Amino acid sequence: MPSFYTMKNNKDSISRRDFLAATGAIGVGAILASSRIWGADVPRQAIARRKFGKTGVEVPIIGLGCMFDIINNQVILRQAFDRGVTYWDTAAGYGKGGSERGIGMFLERNPSARKELFLVTKGRGPDYRQTLDESLARLKVDYVDLFLSHAVGDIGEVDTPEARAFAERAKRDGKIKFFGFSTHSNVAQCLEGAAKLGWIDGILMTYNYRTMHEPDVMAAIDACGTAGIGLTAMKTQGQWQWRETPEQAAILAPLLARGFTPGQAKLKAVMENPQISTACVQMPSLKLCHENIAAALDATSLAESDRAALEQHAAATATGYCAGCSRLCEPTIGNAVPVADIMRDLMYHRHYGDSVDARSLLAELPVEVRARLPLVDYAAAERACPRGLPIGLLMREASVILG
Ligand code: SF4
Repeated sequence: MPSFYTMKNNKDSISRRDFLAATGAIGVGAILASSRIWGADVPRQAIARRKFGKTGVEVPIIGLGCMFDIINNQVILRQAFDRGVTYWDTAAGYGKGGSERGIGMFLERNPSARKELFLVTKGRGPDYRQTLDESLARLKVDYVDLFLSHAVGDIGEVDTPEARAFAERAKRDGKIKFFGFSTHSNVAQCLEGAAKLGWIDGILMTYNYRTMHEPDVMAAIDACGTAGIGLTAMKTQGQWQWRETPEQAAILAPLLARGFTPGQAKLKAVMENPQISTACVQMPSLKLCHENIAAALDATSLAESDRAALEQHAAATATGYCAGCSRLCEPTIGNAVPVADIMRDLMYHRHYGDSVDARSLLAELPVEVRARLPLVDYAAAERACPRGLPIGLLMREASVILG
């Protein structure tokens, strides 16, 4: 039977009038009890948990990505926490420290919550000690469970004596329990490199229905599993650069009849891989929070037809998804422009709305890169791109957004 949310045909919001009309007809309890989409009244810690590599720690299979206005959305933290979403991922750079400050506000009001959280933050080298200390102060905690070197695109960025010495010292000082890195670019290569190091505890990586079948990604995940590295998936929705056409959207329409939104199905595809400890998802609204938690709680597995629909959708929309394989396109333009980073900022701009100030992310580009952005000849980069992205068009668009 289609759920209440499915009956709304995946509209962006459920109006109070619609909700009252529905509840008046069949009762709130009936809706909440019967709908696997709504996900309310969920007992604490009901969400399944998995081992995080060889750390000995178990984490819920869904985590809260905190790259949104945490200060003014404390209720989302509360709802997530109360439902067992106790893996929280933030970064020094999110909202210029605002995300960490928002978590600090929550923990100040709810100090007993700290021991139940698996708290993750990220900072950029080379001075990891200073960024960690500043993060701890904003978070109002003595330690984080996992500290990640932020946005690594080559394992050489983290495979340094300084990074290793920092990780060992911070662990000894009780400021971090585990160390690792996040990666959006050259993910498979970064994972393969980490698996050889022997001192990386966890990795936050781009992983979704578009990339999960790629042989190099699958091999790298196997290597990390063997090395005992805990893996967290991010960018699980695999957002692409354009608006869907009606024909593209129709590919995923059968999922609604099965009781899933397309977003839930994409998330389940990630969570159903037992090699992924947790799927970390941005939840900048209560609607998304409930929808994602419901997907994590729902015991229904994706059917072959669901997976086929996702694969078909990935193929039909491939030319707008940047997989972050910057080693392929950026050298062809003399590394003059960080194409993959800008593609990611553009994706934030299109899909994350006000929750991420993508324009200010773009504005962090060095002045000389911003100046050359619309001038570079991207023809060679476009020929090198395995997905056929119109790189020149998108880089010029980024330039326009920057103004
Ligand atoms: S633009 Fe193409 S080649 Fe460059 S990182 Fe994105 S998908 Fe890879």
